[in-house]
Amino acid sequence: MSTQTLTEAKMSHHDLLKDQVAIVTGSGRGIGLAIAKKLAGAGAAVIITDITQESADSGANEIASSGLKSFSTVCNVTDPESIEKMTSTVMEKYSRIDILVNNAGITKDTLFMRMKLEEWNAVIETNLTSVFKVTQSVIKNMSKANYGRVVNIASVIGLHGNFGQANYAASKAGVIALTKTLAKEYASKNITCNAIAPGFIDTPMTQKLKPEIKDKYLEFIPLKRFGQPEDVAEAAFYFCTGGSYVTGQVIVVDGGMFM
Ligand code: NAP
Repeated sequence: MSTQTLTEAKMSHHDLLKDQVAIVTGSGRGIGLAIAKKLAGAGAAVIITDITQESADSGANEIASSGLKSFSTVCNVTDPESIEKMTSTVMEKYSRIDILVNNAGITKDTLFMRMKLEEWNAVIETNLTSVFKVTQSVIKNMSKANYGRVVNIASVIGLHGNFGQANYAASKAGVIALTKTLAKEYASKNITCNAIAPGFIDTPMTQKLKPEIKDKYLEFIPLKRFGQPEDVAEAAFYFCTGGSYVTGQVIVVDGGMFM
């Protein structure tokens, strides 16, 4: 490629999402933050939301330190009032929402026999019911505009199940089924809805696992490394910038762990 074409390609990359507005839930850190950075790097106005204003601000500060801009506001994805407030704040400020990334999620791992109903409910509420609530609040604006990109962060565990993760696996399988249903219901509105199923990604969520458990996972990853949040961000970026004829799909980002 000539230097001029390369420069043009770089410029257009920075502009791909110019004038678009993107909300990423749970983006104070981890995968959400990497996705927010990637979208901001392509020119989108990115809204960093997290369960506390402090976490959201910390994500926004990190984005600012890489020379990019974002706007931070609180959004507890389990609380309908907090969600409505976030959506109306964004609509008042930007008058549009083009991209929604449902990323916030938690784990409460324990073997099925020992799992308490509270542990089941907390994970289903935060990982699955949240996608119902946040998307319902946001998608009506996309629908009016006849354009939208919804990206849901599921997990390979939602496709395959896992020891000690009955609640998490069920929540992520639910996210995948919800993704496909939204893809069908909103295709006529030019809104695509896709999911990403990450494998083992190095974030605070997995950093709490014991070293021996991490080593065990590594044995089963053909690419011989844990994923980085940026690897997941690449897939989200694809759904938001290209892939206009792709909806209801799940991209697995797991270094080949499941194939
Ligand atoms: P993380 O580092 O723990 O980040 C999750 C973020 O979500 C945190 O900032 C957390 O905030 C926020 N959050 C938790 N509850 C929330 C709520 N009620 N409302 C709003 N925000 C909330 O996790 P991650 O690894 O980046 O995970 C991001 C997504 O990827 C999750 O859906 C996860 O299930 C999925 N995933 C991760 C992996 C992996 O290997 N890491 C693999 C597959 C799928 P606080 O910590 O401040 O509470």
